Amino acid sequence: MKNRILSISLAVLMAASISSCGNTANNTEVSAETNATSEASISSAEGSDAEASDVSAASSESADSKRLSIVVTNFPEYDFAHQIVQDNADVIMLLKPGAESHTYDPTPEDIITIQNSDMFVYVGGDSDEWVDDVLSSMDQSNMNIFRLMDAVETVPEELVEGMEENEEEESGEEGESEEVELDEHVWTSPVNAMTIVRKMSETIETLDPANKDAYEKNASDYISELSDLDKEFQDVVSSAKRKEIIVGDRFPFRYFCDEYGLSYYAAFPGCSTDTQASAKTIAFLIDKVKNDEIPVVFHIELSNEEMCSSIAEATGAKSELLNAVHNVSDEDFKNGVTYVNLMKHNVEVLKEALN
Ligand SMILES: [Zn+2]
Repeated sequence: MKNRILSISLAVLMAASISSCGNTANNTEVSAETNATSEASISSAEGSDAEASDVSAASSESADSKRLSIVVTNFPEYDFAHQIVQDNADVIMLLKPGAESHTYDPTPEDIITIQNSDMFVYVGGDSDEWVDDVLSSMDQSNMNIFRLMDAVETVPEELVEGMEENEEEESGEEGESEEVELDEHVWTSPVNAMTIVRKMSETIETLDPANKDAYEKNASDYISELSDLDKEFQDVVSSAKRKEIIVGDRFPFRYFCDEYGLSYYAAFPGCSTDTQASAKTIAFLIDKVKNDEIPVVFHIELSNEEMCSSIAEATGAKSELLNAVHNVSDEDFKNGVTYVNLMKHNVEVLKEALN
């Protein structure tokens, strides 16, 4: 798998250096909402003939050529970068809205897009493991790489009582399966999100000093929104009857729960690739819900919700979405939904679940 990606990326880079064009239409459709940004990319892609650039680029050709291009792998990164730059730079999300983030694989076009970016943002965990191979095949001398897991303190995925153990020890990779798996979902804590936005903004400001003031202001506005969100969570938890949540699904909320002092039970640690829980795991969670009189069981976004529904049916608890903000639906993306919007939903469902 790694070799395959590496050979694809090398082939693609050779092709890229021959055609030396901009972002491809494939990615630009994702960034279409960022106003004028996509037209600039489309006009510079494929052939770059004069007709293509007439309409969109004519008025701001020189400005467009200097626009900062930021390529990100998932939605939280997209939202943070987009909040900082707004209309002053292009932000391109490689993951398609609505797509599963853990099984994403870059296309050859994606690799060209990364190569041509001014700044590349990725998580640095299990789900974008492919990045290391892709980056190692590129000339990184002019690349600015921002890794979310370097921006904040990380903790290992935690196996709590009742969880399914990850069954990834497929024989062959001796030693590797023993490695501690760091939890990649650093963004699920709004406090981490504040740190990430601040550091991301500092990097963007150095790359595009002409717009420094705008970036600083946008970042500080968004950080204050995040700070209000953080206070809302603190208030909900401090006045709550219980400090325990049950997630009948994968569990990407370690940083979130640590931040607010919540204990938790869930079916799988982190975002395990397993999706079928054993009868024993489900039985354990059902008992927990009954014994601790938990009113709401959570599932995560873009989940089949099966396990959560079974637990809810067996216990009479409600099934609700606790959003880990890996990605958003196509519709939400088009409507400009933000991390803060999605987290506000969590504030409301958490009120129910903890009382
Ligand atoms: Zn995940």
